[in-house]
Amino acid sequence: MDLKSNHAAPVLTDPAAPINKSRLGMHSSLFPCSPPLAVLPPGIFLTIPRKKTGILDEFRSSIWLDAMKSSSPPPKKITKDVSNEYSPTDADVAYNAWMAKYPSAIASFEQIANHAKGKRIALFLDYDGTLSPIVDNPECAFMSDAMRANVKKVAKYFPTAIISGRSREKVYEFVRLTELYYAGSHGMDIMGPVREHISNDLPNCIRSMDEQGKEVNLFQPAGEFLPVIEERKQADAESEAERSEESVAYQAERSGTTRVFRSLVQCTKDIVGAKVENNKFCVSVHYRNVDEKSWTVVAQRVHDVLKDYAHLRLTHGRKVLEVRPVINWDKGKAVTFLLESLGLSHCDDVLPIYVGDDRTDEDAFKVLREGNRGYGILVGSAPKESNAAYSLRDPLEVMEFLKSLMTLKK
Ligand SMILES: [Mg+2]
Repeated sequence: MDLKSNHAAPVLTDPAAPINKSRLGMHSSLFPCSPPLAVLPPGIFLTIPRKKTGILDEFRSSIWLDAMKSSSPPPKKITKDVSNEYSPTDADVAYNAWMAKYPSAIASFEQIANHAKGKRIALFLDYDGTLSPIVDNPECAFMSDAMRANVKKVAKYFPTAIISGRSREKVYEFVRLTELYYAGSHGMDIMGPVREHISNDLPNCIRSMDEQGKEVNLFQPAGEFLPVIEERKQADAESEAERSEESVAYQAERSGTTRVFRSLVQCTKDIVGAKVENNKFCVSVHYRNVDEKSWTVVAQRVHDVLKDYAHLRLTHGRKVLEVRPVINWDKGKAVTFLLESLGLSHCDDVLPIYVGDDRTDEDAFKVLREGNRGYGILVGSAPKESNAAYSLRDPLEVMEFLKSLMTLKK
């Protein structure tokens, strides 16, 4: 089944799970209707039948497997130096057709430069698979020094933000550039340098200190929706000494996601290659090192844990299942929020550019496309439908693109 979507990451839902919409203050569009089982929608929502029968289990397993495969296409091997003996395969023909639809942002740079004339560029970058290569161990997704240097340079000329599914702290650990904005947990946790033109009246905006003691602005725009908020307030009221031991772990300890984190670690520990990562506002179950035969087992175990948590949902990334609070927030809203907080919203002279490789980046591409106000650039070499306007093959090409962008500095 093709899960391509123009809306949001595919979501596995359990229609039988009780969801208190009013308690969570969420938009009704977050709760998809359950389609008849015999007719699968081509879109994003998959219904997981609660009742267990042999046929339904088989049906459910095949849905999950398709969704996981669809979200995790194998990288296409591209040979840049084509020899004379090279003969194109069907895959190459399909790739070329795809490239015609999503042309290279490097080859089309003149076009981008023309559009950028007289405009201020605002740059948004995903991390994994965009600035760093996808690696077997997500703890080792390091960016190269050359990439870091180029991101640092580009951030000198244009406001630049990293928007990642990982925790904000984790992304900062990898990038270590204080001049950037960081939006972790799919934009639910944003930190950026103090700028004079940021309004101090923004809700959910507080002055804070980064790891170097530098003053920063901290935004947690989704904080008010989090079902863990009461627990976090309670945690805040407790002693600093107790909290200081490991603040992130401490906060997460009291959150629903940490309970889920523990359950997920427990239930996947016998699956070779499965890795569970706590990203504070979301929990990631990585299956890139799991034998494909066991992917449905991963999905089944995750679902079994999640069925007790109506306020959490499951989305697909690249070889990762991500458990997030059911709130109306995504990377697209993070981009909108950042543009507004930078005073760059509603300005005709601003050109936002978002570079990312994942399904969750599609929300940001869509915001730019629908607003007809900037460009999404999809990183990848496996053809897939996207809301992006351009493409780049891999992080190396992303770095080349950043170098090109610097030529547009005012
Ligand atoms: Mg990514």
